[in-house]
Amino acid sequence: MNNINYLSVIIPVLNEEENIDILISRLSRVLGQREICDRYEIIFVDDGSTDSTRGRVIEACERNDNIKAIFFRRNFGKSAALMAGFKEACGEVILTMDGDLQDEPTEIHKLVNKLNEGYDLVSGWKRTRNDSLEKVVASRIFNWIISRVLRLKLHDFNSGFKIYKSWTVKDIRLSGNLYRFLPVFVERQGGRVAEVPVTHNKRIHGISKYGLKRYLHGLFDLLTMIFLSSFLFRPMYFFGLAGLPLMGLGISGGFYLLVKHLFWLVTGDISYQLNSRPLLIIALGITGLGLSIFLFGLLAELILHVSSATTTPFFYSIEKTISKRQGSERG
Ligand code: UDP
Ligand code: MG
Repeated sequence: MNNINYLSVIIPVLNEEENIDILISRLSRVLGQREICDRYEIIFVDDGSTDSTRGRVIEACERNDNIKAIFFRRNFGKSAALMAGFKEACGEVILTMDGDLQDEPTEIHKLVNKLNEGYDLVSGWKRTRNDSLEKVVASRIFNWIISRVLRLKLHDFNSGFKIYKSWTVKDIRLSGNLYRFLPVFVERQGGRVAEVPVTHNKRIHGISKYGLKRYLHGLFDLLTMIFLSSFLFRPMYFFGLAGLPLMGLGISGGFYLLVKHLFWLVTGDISYQLNSRPLLIIALGITGLGLSIFLFGLLAELILHVSSATTTPFFYSIEKTISKRQGSERG
């Protein structure tokens, strides 16, 4: 196994008070052996916990120089927590894992070995999931749909246990729950993506933070992803394609009516008169709709070109950061 020089482990946590200390001791045991990496940092991103998670993380930072922490002002979601972690990470390789002990630190080497085969992202595949039946079935369907629709062959997009070359995620922007689609973002950037089966422990302490709403959000996120992955840098290809035919249809209808209007002028037959035809309203409506969709496209192009020059918008707000190794406490 090729040693990683510096590994950053990012762990988003929301109300995981009973899991923090156990996780740190299991992780430190694995990473301290130096078989995986020469140096490491563990970055906890506290996503607005309301139990004693925050206190436990602060204590851990005081005890252990390898531990850093970011504290959000309130709950911003796992995407935001990961984004903040990616930004703070110093390692050339980044590992993410959940803070609920469902991912097994002793299996990190499986991800590392695969990464060393020349991949840029390796995702843990929870082949046997230790979750409720409802979650397992929904997850299977979700994964099947995503891998078909987005044409990326992975069994488990939802896994929090992943390893990345840091270039793939350093400045990534993730709204909603788009963290599930990280492999798609990486693949679309030209990264090589693979997966390895990992075990999945049962959650012992604390509860899952995602309820039934996740399915609806998952659907919206999928639609966003389809749009983003196909048209992110060329919104006009989408809006133009939808707007132009509608405009064409509406204008042809209008032209047809105009010609008929000329018949009225010649024959005097009132049924040809432009303003007596209901089709006129339909033609105008369709032209207007087509034109609006087309202009949406131009607007999207405008936003794209302006926003690429600006910094990350308000995805999250950091209250405090603890980073002993660099001797700093900010916030
Ligand atoms: N989490 C978070 N912010 C949230 C929801 C979850 O940081 O808004 C963390 C949570 O503490 C855990 C990880 O994300 O470390 C995965 O969450 P959970 O175990 O609830 O998800 P599940 O395993 O049920 O998909
Ligand atoms: Mg979990």
